[in-house]
Amino acid sequence: MNFKVPRGTQDILPDASWKWQRVEKIARSICDVYNYKEIRTPIFEQTELFQRTVGDTTDIVQKEMYTFTDRGDRSMTLRPEGTAPVVRSFVENKMFGYADQPVKLYYTGPMFRYERQQAGRYRQFVQFGVEAIGSDDPAIDAEVIELAMTIYKRSGLSDIKLVLNSLGDKESRNAHREALIAHFSPHIGEFCSDCQHRLEKNPLRILDCKVDRDNPLMNTAPSLADFLNEESSAYFEKVKNYLDIAGIEYEYDPNLVRGLDYYNHTAFEIMSTSKGFGAITTLCGGGRYNGLAEEIGGPAAPGIGFALSIERLLLALDAEGKAWTDEPSLDVYLVTLGEEARAKGFEILGKLREHGLRSEMDYMDRKIKAQMKSADRLHANYVIVIGEDEVNENSVQLKNMADGQQKKVSIDELIDVLTK
Ligand code: ATP
Ligand code: MG
Repeated sequence: MNFKVPRGTQDILPDASWKWQRVEKIARSICDVYNYKEIRTPIFEQTELFQRTVGDTTDIVQKEMYTFTDRGDRSMTLRPEGTAPVVRSFVENKMFGYADQPVKLYYTGPMFRYERQQAGRYRQFVQFGVEAIGSDDPAIDAEVIELAMTIYKRSGLSDIKLVLNSLGDKESRNAHREALIAHFSPHIGEFCSDCQHRLEKNPLRILDCKVDRDNPLMNTAPSLADFLNEESSAYFEKVKNYLDIAGIEYEYDPNLVRGLDYYNHTAFEIMSTSKGFGAITTLCGGGRYNGLAEEIGGPAAPGIGFALSIERLLLALDAEGKAWTDEPSLDVYLVTLGEEARAKGFEILGKLREHGLRSEMDYMDRKIKAQMKSADRLHANYVIVIGEDEVNENSVQLKNMADGQQKKVSIDELIDVLTK
């Protein structure tokens, strides 16, 4: 029997996992600086949570969810995204009652979508996301966008751009919706069955269709920009103004429609502009969702957030040819010769680790040359050599790998010498 990793998933092997850890650490530390606190929610939720919030007419709900019936006959779904679960938790735990508003949260973990596998598109992928819930100050929109941009810049990306749109409020969207129905209705027969279904339920989704992307009616469709009411336009202007203050450049794209139903007002994506990047260029998507908390039974609590995938962030770094310099290393590698030396080495190894020194020794009974090679491969800063003489003298040979200097050090002084 040959077992394989499931289609659309991947093993993150040790030669890559340290890179994941590096970018995750950067993202976490930036959240810390911006005063966002981590929240951890379950990997599965009631199916209805996503149906209601992400939306019945979206690709996610219609085609991509991993839904199963549990032994108690309840329909459960592996989370396809993080915002609905976080807002569910916000409502359930009455975070709207916290003294400090907005409640600023971040999360990271696997998301699941049954998608066609291609570069940058997986069935299990890791998102890092941020949600600020409880404020409709346009400054917080700018803060959230700035935070996302900072994660990319600090991770080493430079070929990125921010694309921005406003989806307006309910009134604006209803007016636009009527115009879209009028525009597509006479020709809806030319569109895919999904779009035909979307026409009455949610015509905005038609603009997001990947099948009918090239239909000429797409380009001539009425633009939401022409339907923004005064309030929505004013809000959008303020967001842009705050982005200017933050020194963040953006490109306005009136056709940017996010793939989830709960968005209104600010919508944005961050794309890679690197030539080496594949067909999928979106690294991060986010936006405002003012009605979401009410939608799932809570009080009105306007929110904004984004989600990025670590997979695409790493692909973008590769595309830009980022050189990883901070490879994992060891403080000490212990080379031992003979059984007695090995026992002494094992004892020293424990002491080194007790003092937080990243240490390793040979467990394969190899010759000295092979052990030295390991020390090299593992980027050890120091090598300790213990042979018969050293055991008798209660000392070791300590070699500094940076300059090749070697000296005899008594075991009693070893920790002092190494931690100094
Ligand atoms: P796309 O248009 O590429 O399908 P989306 O609109 O479905 O993206 P969102 O739901 O906005 O994506 O998710 C936010 C981010 O999560 C995306 O910008 C992308 O970086 C990442 N993402 C989404 N789906 C996948 C996937 N299947 N594999 C890897 N990353 C993904
Ligand atoms: Mg998608």
